[in-house]
Amino acid sequence: MARTNTSIDFDDFIGQISRVFPFLSSIYLTMQQTSSDRVKEKAIELGFHLVGIASVEPDDESVRHLRNWLQQGYHADMDWMSNPKREDVRACLADAKSVISVALNYYTSHPQPTEIDRAKISRYAWGRDYHRVLHKKLKTLAQWLEERGEGVRVRYYADTGPVQDKVWAQRAGIGWIAKNGNLITRNYGSWVFLGEILTNLELEVDRPHTQHCGSCTRCLEACPTQAIVRPFVVDANRCIAYHTIENRAETLPSDIENHLQGWVAGCDICQEVCPWNQRFAKETDVSEFQPYPENRDVKLSELAKLSESDWDRQFRASALRRIKPWMWRRNAAANLKHSD
Ligand code: SF4
Ligand code: SF4
Repeated sequence: MARTNTSIDFDDFIGQISRVFPFLSSIYLTMQQTSSDRVKEKAIELGFHLVGIASVEPDDESVRHLRNWLQQGYHADMDWMSNPKREDVRACLADAKSVISVALNYYTSHPQPTEIDRAKISRYAWGRDYHRVLHKKLKTLAQWLEERGEGVRVRYYADTGPVQDKVWAQRAGIGWIAKNGNLITRNYGSWVFLGEILTNLELEVDRPHTQHCGSCTRCLEACPTQAIVRPFVVDANRCIAYHTIENRAETLPSDIENHLQGWVAGCDICQEVCPWNQRFAKETDVSEFQPYPENRDVKLSELAKLSESDWDRQFRASALRRIKPWMWRRNAAANLKHSD
């Protein structure tokens, strides 16, 4: 059974009485396990593909890794990455005890366009805005948790708060943070969206996932801009995904421009070459993630003159709205400049 604040007294009571009747503590433990299982069952029932649970305390290694990465300036100008709350999620929910981590497979079997005049858009953005899809499911799960008892508190996030989603997914046993910085799952590869629910319920936790990149270095070798500076460390300053989506400068750096290879929104190269993705990617059953045709078949020359009204129409309910019309024109023009 999940424990709330009011059940602390109950815990003490069980602790004392189980010294006299030891079998009671095992019954209570079984009740707790059932509750964690129930949370997972509910998450799967709501359509999440993977779910795991971690305890809320920060782990030193992840904090050290984050600090080193920030110190090197590898976050470029993404200042939200240095929000101190990312080191300890209890800053988001003071009495949080558990983090429920969920994953949603978004892979569809369509290939990227290969024609020289076509723009490449990262798979995660082909269909409906993932924030909307995840939030709807997370909200339902969060409400269900709140109904478990008085005093149950929850906060949920889907790439929308100061939460290190991959760290929590690894700690909750969903997958591992790979050499290319993505989270790889055994069931779906790295084509997954992640979400989290923080709660003051004290749930039984899962074992952290082990790392399975082994001696493979395919992603490091394939990255056209050497953005994976060493295994597990990606420098955003060199990454096409950062430059096409987040960089607000009028022009892109020349050593990025000449390696774009058709990418105008994100970059999937280090995921496409990954043997785990090649072997374990599965077609998603989430219909909202099926691509809008215009996101898979758009000419660079059209994007280079994208108007505000075309942008508004084309990217409605899309995560691609983060890329403003002038950025689409900039990214497309940069590709065209180097396409001869
Ligand atoms: S997203 Fe592209 S540019 Fe960034 S690390 Fe991966 S392969 Fe390199
Ligand atoms: S390509 Fe190899 S090293 Fe890179 S993430 Fe995949 S398994 Fe790990």
